[in-house]
Amino acid sequence: MKKKTFVVIGMGRFGSSVAYSLCNQGYEVLAIDSSEQRVQEVAHTVTHAVQADSTDEEALRALGVRNFDVVVVAIGEDIQASILTSIVLKEIGVPFLVVKAQTDLHGKVLAKIGVNKVVFPERDMGNRVATHLVSPNILDYIELSDDYSIVEMLAAPSMVGKNLRQLDVRAKFGCNVMAIKTGSRMNIAPQATDLIQEGDMLVVVGKKNQLQQLQRALGE
Ligand code: ATP
Repeated sequence: MKKKTFVVIGMGRFGSSVAYSLCNQGYEVLAIDSSEQRVQEVAHTVTHAVQADSTDEEALRALGVRNFDVVVVAIGEDIQASILTSIVLKEIGVPFLVVKAQTDLHGKVLAKIGVNKVVFPERDMGNRVATHLVSPNILDYIELSDDYSIVEMLAAPSMVGKNLRQLDVRAKFGCNVMAIKTGSRMNIAPQATDLIQEGDMLVVVGKKNQLQQLQRALGE
């Protein structure tokens, strides 16, 4: 299968981190920035780096941006440039467009333009750090929607030695245990009779408020 190819526009901290990470994983990355200095700084670490103003449709067409599978726009402070760039990229017809938003309003505008994925790196990382601070036994989580998440949580002492039927998280909290990890062994189809052991990690899906209730109940 052909490997995906990427364009990253804006070589600030976020954009350069996306570009380096993709390159390290062996993907082709074209990095674009309006600042010649930024282009020089990343030139040795990405596949191609060019200086261009991404609000200039002709410049993007000349670079063949449309032929790449994914374009990431990581322009932060200049919201106008971010929006104009996104409109130009939609006009050109890029297959998948990911844009970093600075504020909620910026995010709403990007969604209206038809951007495929709007990301809020600072807000999302802030949420993640806060969640880890208040719930240390939450190892990781994925937000499925505004209401639903999947969380990876350490089995609380109160769960150890009980099976899923006894814990009955579905009836009590409306959440589903999707998988149980014991050491390096992953049980992806847990049965009602499966016992929870000390150090187990549970993957649970549910409504955010119900997952929080489960967390609180287990913490007691
Ligand atoms: P970060 O927080 O990721 O460091 P930021 O949100 O502060 O970045 P900026 O520094 O404003 O974002 O922009 C990121 C990069 O985007 C800068 O290197 C800037 O030169 C570049 N940039 C801004 N406008 C354009 C444009 N029209 N075309 C191409 N690059 C641009």
